Amino acid sequence: MLRYCDESKIITIRKITAFPVAFTMSFQTLAPFCQSIKSIQRSHGRISSSIRHHGTSSKNEVQIVEVGPRDGLQNEPKWVETDVKVEFINRLSKVGLQHIETTSFVSPKWIPQFKDSLEVFQRIEKTDSISYPVLVPNIKGFETAIAQGVKEIAIFGAASETFSQKNINCSIEESLNRFRVVTEAAQKANVKIRGYVSTVVGCPYEGPIKAAAVANVTEELLKLGCYEISLGDTIGVGTIGSMSAMLKEVKNVADPSQLAIHCHNTYGQALPNILTALNHGIRVIDAAVSGLGGCPYAKGASGNVPTEDVIYMLHGLGVHTGINLPELVLVGRFICNYLGRNSESKVTFAMGDLKPMDKNAHTHNHDHSHSHSHSHSH
Ligand SMILES: [Zn+2]
Repeated sequence: MLRYCDESKIITIRKITAFPVAFTMSFQTLAPFCQSIKSIQRSHGRISSSIRHHGTSSKNEVQIVEVGPRDGLQNEPKWVETDVKVEFINRLSKVGLQHIETTSFVSPKWIPQFKDSLEVFQRIEKTDSISYPVLVPNIKGFETAIAQGVKEIAIFGAASETFSQKNINCSIEESLNRFRVVTEAAQKANVKIRGYVSTVVGCPYEGPIKAAAVANVTEELLKLGCYEISLGDTIGVGTIGSMSAMLKEVKNVADPSQLAIHCHNTYGQALPNILTALNHGIRVIDAAVSGLGGCPYAKGASGNVPTEDVIYMLHGLGVHTGINLPELVLVGRFICNYLGRNSESKVTFAMGDLKPMDKNAHTHNHDHSHSHSHSHSH
């Protein structure tokens, strides 16, 4: 491993293409985590038939839900111009992602950053093989969504009572009742519903959260008609231990094919926590390019796990994602440049010399050469 830190070796993309093999081998010595490789391969057939898949995605073993434009920008204090939001999503649509959470049809009084959500959703170039879910907090948001032809919505609950009160101004039970109106309307309109459960291992107000509480909300959201529940470590305090204990409990009420994992990287534990979820059979991972995001209700909580780092880990495990990592890195650079901040992605940092228009380096492809992505993906 040390040789990768050797300063005399400038890491180029050409060299990075050799990394996945090396990492696959080193992972195989890391029992019991190497189980994930086998279990991912074993479950491939079953996952292919899951409801999430459409278009070409059934070939992919692990699905990424890119949440940068919504979860990432939601907590961005600087106003992001509509043109930039649209370009950001359009660029993300070209790297092989198949699920891009686009925006939130929430009152601008709550989240001013989304006051242009309607325009953003209307203007993005939509591709049939990509789903563009939109967050809806209530029936009003749903009506906006349906009028725009939104095919998938997301609703959000919490496993912590206090967090629910602070985040959405109501108790967990009240939130479920509120969602029922939305989910009934969505089912009638044939709109897919994804559910979020936040604070699944820890809450900024209540501390550690009981796994049974997470299982309870998960079960209720499934009953409401959600096809998938994304389990969110909203403030990034989880560890392999707490994540594993929580998942064991939740698996009593849900099949892993109904679950997704959503990790923040506050304590640098997001990747091991995601690997833990993979070992529990979960095949859908939420991530935000460049690690965008945070949580306004949790001091010190850092952003989502960077998509680039998740992809690098998955490709190293020999998992197919269909995502072109160098192109994704460039999208991360685009949004970070605009926001005037450094990327939280270590992979982006390591790929320091990546340039969009460098024709001499064969992996420095840009918009037109998707074929390269596959050489990174196996
Ligand atoms: Zn998040």
